[in-house]
Amino acid sequence: MKDENCIFCKIANGEIPSATIYEDDMFRVILDINPASKGHALILPKEHYANIFEVPEETAARSIILARKIMTKMKDVVRCDGYNLLQNNGPSAGQTVFHYHVHMIPRFEGDNIGLKWKTGELDDALRDRILEAFGQK
Ligand code: 5GP
Ligand code: ZN
Repeated sequence: MKDENCIFCKIANGEIPSATIYEDDMFRVILDINPASKGHALILPKEHYANIFEVPEETAARSIILARKIMTKMKDVVRCDGYNLLQNNGPSAGQTVFHYHVHMIPRFEGDNIGLKWKTGELDDALRDRILEAFGQK
């Protein structure tokens, strides 16, 4: 299914031009228009899924397998020191385009692009509640 109001549906299916670095039957991989670092690229499925919870398992699995292939090649192209592979779901998590996509962000020593969070403490009661919910208690 495509969503006619979705910009990533249009990009993934070639209706809007993009800097495409890879394409197959299921995905288009493009350079991010506002990159966090040199070589920041996005994997877009050609079908519309709003987020990870809507993506069929096979598509989700293939997107990660593809990410590794793209990152392996891009590492040599931009000569990065590390890599972030990430994927946002929901506005609170920073998602701004509601069509599942995977970010591949090359990292460079001292790049300071700000992908670090403040750390907290694991609360005992919450830990127990979660372990129980997952059948571990
Ligand atoms: P999100 O915040 O939803 O995880 O990521 C959306 C990403 O898509 C952002 O990094 C943003 O720069 C990128 N983006 C938004 N619109 C366009 C576009 O029209 N073309 C390309 N290539 N990237 C886009
Ligand atoms: Zn879409």
